[in-house]
Amino acid sequence: MKLQIVQAIKSIDELASFCKRAGFVFPSFEIYGGLAGFYDYGPRGVELKNNIKAAWWKSIVQDREDVVGIDAVTVNHPKVWEASGHVASFTDPLVDCKNCKSRFRADHIAKELFDADVGAMSVKDISELLKLKNARCPKCKGELTEARKYNLMFKTHVGPIETDENVAYLRPETAQMIYLNFRLTQESARLKLPFGIAQVGRAYRNEIAPRDFLFRVREFEQMEMQYFIKPGENKKFFEQWKKERLRWYLSLGIKKENLRFREHRSTELAHYAKAAVDIEYKFPWGWGEIEGIHDRGDWDLTQHSKVSGKDLSYFDDATKKRFVPNVIEVSAGVDRAFLAFMCNAYMTEKERIVLKLNPKLSPIKVAVFPLVRNDKRIVKFAGNVFTELKKRFTAYYDASGNIGKSYRRQDEIGTPVCITVDFDSLKKKDVTVRDRDTMKQKRVKINNLIECLGKKLN
Ligand code: ATP
Repeated sequence: MKLQIVQAIKSIDELASFCKRAGFVFPSFEIYGGLAGFYDYGPRGVELKNNIKAAWWKSIVQDREDVVGIDAVTVNHPKVWEASGHVASFTDPLVDCKNCKSRFRADHIAKELFDADVGAMSVKDISELLKLKNARCPKCKGELTEARKYNLMFKTHVGPIETDENVAYLRPETAQMIYLNFRLTQESARLKLPFGIAQVGRAYRNEIAPRDFLFRVREFEQMEMQYFIKPGENKKFFEQWKKERLRWYLSLGIKKENLRFREHRSTELAHYAKAAVDIEYKFPWGWGEIEGIHDRGDWDLTQHSKVSGKDLSYFDDATKKRFVPNVIEVSAGVDRAFLAFMCNAYMTEKERIVLKLNPKLSPIKVAVFPLVRNDKRIVKFAGNVFTELKKRFTAYYDASGNIGKSYRRQDEIGTPVCITVDFDSLKKKDVTVRDRDTMKQKRVKINNLIECLGKKLN
């Protein structure tokens, strides 16, 4: 059969409504009218998301000998974020509309209306540009306030009394907790430079303008690894990690033409960074960052040493010298990776929607169907096949007896292989194996099934 690709994804709204219908992602708090910037993952979405995190963990931690993992808390002591510079500098420029009271990112308005080079501009510059060009509210054309800095961290209080003394922050990135656990991790795991500490976990940012579905949300997950090195080795490891991280996305099926690096100019570097590059994906609305790779120098360990008074240096046995390690960070967003993998995989063909996910990421690896639902022997045979397969793969059983519909349902959630049991199966002890992408079918003997699937799915 000749396949006809009608189109890849047209808009992010199309993907968002597909994700809701097919059980990937739901708007949070929907029955109460929703809350901007929050999404829940449904039965298919949680599997895909877990598979992305597992693939990252395997490649960063389990397949290497120089990286270990930790899992730290998300409600953080305020000193962490004072030392890191986030209390002072983790800000975005904000303007309010004096008329309708809506809030906007001033830099987004400057970029969208005047194509300004916002990376190189201060908040004051942006504010002046908006005034000069008489920028108006994008919603109601009302007058805008001056731009001012707005801190993105969520604040809370630890304990029953809400005073300034017991303020805590929900972490806006996972990285800082790696620095706080640097000494204990290095000593307990007996690590020698260069080595990495990795973490996957939630982060919270009170974004002014959440948008583009999962791209800019207020609660999300990050997959971060801090690679500790000797000072002076920064360029070498920065380049190595750039290459490795690009390879990872490509190895899981992201098309090469949809990925690129974007170097940060010195004017747009974050307060902690000596050099930075983003890995960007070509989303339906344009290029967007999915991962940052940063040379953080010795900024974080030095800051935490200063503020805590605890020594966070490293003693090098070979040279008998003590120094503060430098850090190359790889920082990927789970939700943005999820979005990129979905955009990359979603296709509308003539008669079906199909998610061409890499089998490693597919929520379900194999689905089993009896050809008819009212023949006990076929149903029993198919049930046995399913029981065997689910010991090894994430499997799904559908006894509706409507094979065409069952195939379509599995195609659109990205199941790479479907297996059908028919009357011949009883005699010949075989099944039909159907491939999601080519829709080709072949008969495989039961005795060879696990081996055949292993080749397709691993
Ligand atoms: P942006 O410039 O888009 O706000 P950032 O440069 O602040 O992103 P980093 O601080 O480098 O992002 O965070 C590392 C990764 O965490 C990003 O590459 C992205 O994948 C993810 N991330 C950051 N903010 C968000 C968010 N609001 N929603 C979803 N993912 C996010």
